[in-house]
Order: sequence, then C-alpha cells, then structure tokens
Amino acid sequence: MNLVLTLILTAVCLGGETFFHAPRNYLGERAFSLRLSDERVANGHTLLLECIPAGPGEEPGRLADLTVSTGSRIHRLYPHPTSPDGVVFALIGIPYRAVPGPDTIHVEWTESDRIYGRDLPFNVVAGPYRSEQIRGVPQSRVTPSVTDFRRIAREQKIIAAAYEAVRDTLMMEDTFRYPVEKKTITSPYGTRRVFNGQLRSYHGGLDLRAYEGTPLYAAQSGVVKLAQNLFYSGNHVLIEHGMGIHTGYSHMSRLYVKTGDEVSRGQLLGLSGATGRVTAAHLHWTVSVDGVGVSPLQFTEILAMLYQKPVEVRHPNDG
Ligand SMILES: [Zn+2]
Repeated sequence: MNLVLTLILTAVCLGGETFFHAPRNYLGERAFSLRLSDERVANGHTLLLECIPAGPGEEPGRLADLTVSTGSRIHRLYPHPTSPDGVVFALIGIPYRAVPGPDTIHVEWTESDRIYGRDLPFNVVAGPYRSEQIRGVPQSRVTPSVTDFRRIAREQKIIAAAYEAVRDTLMMEDTFRYPVEKKTITSPYGTRRVFNGQLRSYHGGLDLRAYEGTPLYAAQSGVVKLAQNLFYSGNHVLIEHGMGIHTGYSHMSRLYVKTGDEVSRGQLLGLSGATGRVTAAHLHWTVSVDGVGVSPLQFTEILAMLYQKPVEVRHPNDG
C-alpha cells in the first residue's frame, strides 16, 4: 500500500515560522509553502513537489522563479494543472541506482541581490524489487557480435537524441491510461539482475501481457520522437509528453505511427510482438522523467495526484 504522507512545510519568512529545522536567520520576503507527495521515496519512484503561494506578496506566476534542485540536478517548475492560480509543481525522479539514505530538495531564490535557500529533507528507501540470479548463461548469448555492437552504439546516439526534451509545456490533460486494454503484469519494474552476487542490470520497464498482435495505445498525448526497429527493443515507439516526460513501447510487431506524429491519449500506436531481444511477445513499457527511468505504475499514481484523479491501489511487489 503506497501510503501518501502529505507534508506541508511552511516557508513564511516574515512570520518567523521555522521551516523544518532550518535556521531562522533568513529575512527574505517570500511567502510560500512546499508540499511533498511523500517524505519517503523508493529508488526508481517519483516525487511530486508543489509550491503554494502563502502570502499577499506572491502574485500568480511569481513562484516559477524558484530554483529547485537535488544534488546537481535542477528540476523545472510548471504551473499546476488542477490547483488555483499561482501554484507550481516539479516532478523529481529518483534514479534506480540512488543509494538509500537521507537526501534534500534545495529551493533557492534571489531577492535584492541576495540568495535565499531552504532545504526540504526526504529519505530514499530501497524499492520493493525482487532479485533474479543470473548464472550459466553462455557468453555468446550475452555478448553481441562486432556488427551488432556497431549497430547498438549507433542506436544509443539516436535514442539519446530522441530523449532530448523539446517541449517545455505540458501536453497532457490527465493521468496515464494503460497501453493495453487489459492490464496484466508479467514482470514488474525494477527486478535486480544479480550476476555472481553483483548487480549487473535491472528491469527498467514494466512488462504487460500482450499476445502477438494486441493493439497498443498511447498512455497520453504527445509527439512521437522515435518509431523504428532497435537491436534490443525491437520495433519501438518513444513519445514525448512535455515537461521532460517520455513513455516507450518495445518489441512491437507493427508500427502505425512515425517520428514527428502528434498522438492523442489512447491513440493506436501499433501491435504487440516479440521483436528485439525477447523470447515471447509482450509489451515492455517504460516511463522517464528528465531522462531518469522510473516505475511506470508509481509514476501513473503521481500523475493521478497531480490531476486529482482516483489512485488505483498498487500491489507492493509491482514496483
Ligand atoms: Zn521488460
């Protein structure tokens, strides 16, 4: 059960209120509060940060000049789609390889040539991911040939370019829908692949049951950034939804869209299949935020919170 703790932290400076345990010697005039979807977040999950004007000095739009960061990563703020004027939000994807432990969201702004900042602490916890032991796989099965290797290297550049965000604005008006009509999980996001006791790789997507020829639909509206055959992913569609959000659909047998197409939520993208490095037909569905691959199910819940839609209860082992 994903218990959503809502933290409301007040950063009203003139009132002298403490902001968590931040020092009181900030004399800025900004009045806003921060709300975080959860104070605990698993690696591979996403946080929703909302910044809410809390004083007469915060006219609509002004909070967009706050700078939000975690470590060296800057997270852009966008106007909130379902809250009153002036509220802004950021989506913070926690990398799968993030180390569990305390972390902070840093919020900074400039006033009269002075820089002010607040730290919002949160905890990264180990996600509910299972391990898969890999042993006895012949090297020839896992090591691509020289020709394949060149192809993979070429495709990595194409994929990286496709992930470059071109849309600042949100192209969505709702949470995700599932890309298949009937949702059956065959392999959850995040399963660790352990080889000789070392984390070799992990399952970076959610596998949904989709027998050969099952119609696959866009999870949300957006622009097709990639629709082509790739060595690992087979026939693959990548959609950009704005705000650094991308969804990917792999191993398809037929593609009904092409790069540059604008698609709407629920639009038919193609048919499922077993192309690429797979043994049976299924859909490998991926979601990324600012280039960080995250759990599609948990991200769908975060979007439901943003759009104030009912949140479907997720099985704890579904990543
Ligand atoms: Zn998969």
